[in-house]
Amino acid sequence: MKKKLLVALCLSIAAAHATAADDSADLVLSGRIDGAAHESYIELPFEVPAGTGRITVEFDYGGREEKTTIDLGLIDPQGFRGWSGGNKRMFTVALDDATPSYRAGPLPAGRWHLLLGVPNIRQGAVSDYTARIDFTPADLPERLPAALLPMLREGAGWYRGDLHMHTAHSDASCPSQQGAKVPCPLFLTLQAAEERRLDFVAVTEHNTASHLQELRGLQPYFDRLLLLPGMEVTTFQGHANVFGLQAGLDFRVGDTVRDWNALIAEAVRRGLPLSVNHPALPSDERCMGCGWRPTGGTDWSKVVAVEAVNGQDAGTPVSGIPFWHARLNEGYRLTGVGGSDNHDATLRDSQFGRSRVGAPTTVVHAQSLSQPAILDGIRAGRVFVDLDGSGATLDLSARHGEAIVAMGENLALPTDAEAEFELRVSGALGARVELIVDGRVEPLLADAKVAMQEQAFSWRWRSDGGRHWLRADVRAGDGRLLLVGNPVYVNFQER
Ligand SMILES: [Zn+2]
Ligand SMILES: [Zn+2]
Repeated sequence: MKKKLLVALCLSIAAAHATAADDSADLVLSGRIDGAAHESYIELPFEVPAGTGRITVEFDYGGREEKTTIDLGLIDPQGFRGWSGGNKRMFTVALDDATPSYRAGPLPAGRWHLLLGVPNIRQGAVSDYTARIDFTPADLPERLPAALLPMLREGAGWYRGDLHMHTAHSDASCPSQQGAKVPCPLFLTLQAAEERRLDFVAVTEHNTASHLQELRGLQPYFDRLLLLPGMEVTTFQGHANVFGLQAGLDFRVGDTVRDWNALIAEAVRRGLPLSVNHPALPSDERCMGCGWRPTGGTDWSKVVAVEAVNGQDAGTPVSGIPFWHARLNEGYRLTGVGGSDNHDATLRDSQFGRSRVGAPTTVVHAQSLSQPAILDGIRAGRVFVDLDGSGATLDLSARHGEAIVAMGENLALPTDAEAEFELRVSGALGARVELIVDGRVEPLLADAKVAMQEQAFSWRWRSDGGRHWLRADVRAGDGRLLLVGNPVYVNFQER
């Protein structure tokens, strides 16, 4: 029999939170236990509103110094949902993922219970507890409470990551212990990224969200490596990555989803930046549905990025760079990114013996190492691609009067006005820089050779009043592409 509760239970509903990182909880359950609760279970009821897609609980209590211990579990209207004991002060359950100890799955509306277990509280002791509970709407699954958006590193700077990779959750394979070809465990991909000293990875499985559960469980361990849940939306009319998703996304373009523009609109509605992948690949029996050829066209104004570099495709006939340039020439501001598209984290580079995870690396200027900041950084476009993951850097800016703009930004420049451009390159000794204006290589620099560990190149550029974009690449002495920079825009439409 359950002991009689000696809890002063108070329920207060905080204002519904409006932003992803809002710190206020939707519901706070607080109360007090005393010695009478020793070795008992307490069920704290709470109502889950209809249309809830995620429940997140943060729990804390006093009296630990007196060895008071309160364990934690969860009961849904149908029964037991999980038990984390004293292992976790925070947990989340959603349709596609849950903190280890808990079961992912549907979240029926109605009466749920937070289950407290009290293995110890001394006679005469009291303990105040607080459970802060957040409800994420099912139709806005990316609206996460702050507790689920860890800040791995504070401060603005350059953060290095791989935006395109697959594991056992889609079509990655690697050798088993005995050498059989088996679906390749996700953990190996993250270990390879850690070895390459990446700051973030987007795990982008084909059309599934089954990896969200594993990423949820692994993020606390990988506290130097930000894990961005992603999906490679893989259709018969092309592939695109979305980053930061927290629930599945219907991919059946031409079937349940009208066309790619409907899918792009859905990504925008959920706040998922979308990047069109390997657009210049063929779409035939060599690579089925790989090239970008949406039957209903593409609303490029809603697309955030183009995968300019996929694996080792730079300089080949299927490179995405000319495709990206063509869209920029049409007046769209699209961040050029890269992704290894790794399908076997154990495969080693023949030259360096490193995993091919992180080749290429996308380097993003962001306000911190956190999911919202990295996604904002990709949107803003102060980004370059480091093809070998060598650690070399590139940054381009332009100044006109008081206005200084970075890569990804727009400079309004009237006819005959001159802008001062500056390109900074580091870690690329012996390489040469190449300037690209509206898709053409322009010899604006007298000497484009990188002669110092850190070097700045500057030049003046006169406007004809028209719309232009300028960006820089860095090439090795043998012409091989090392770094791909993003454009500074001139007289483009403001976003
Ligand atoms: Zn693909
Ligand atoms: Zn892929």
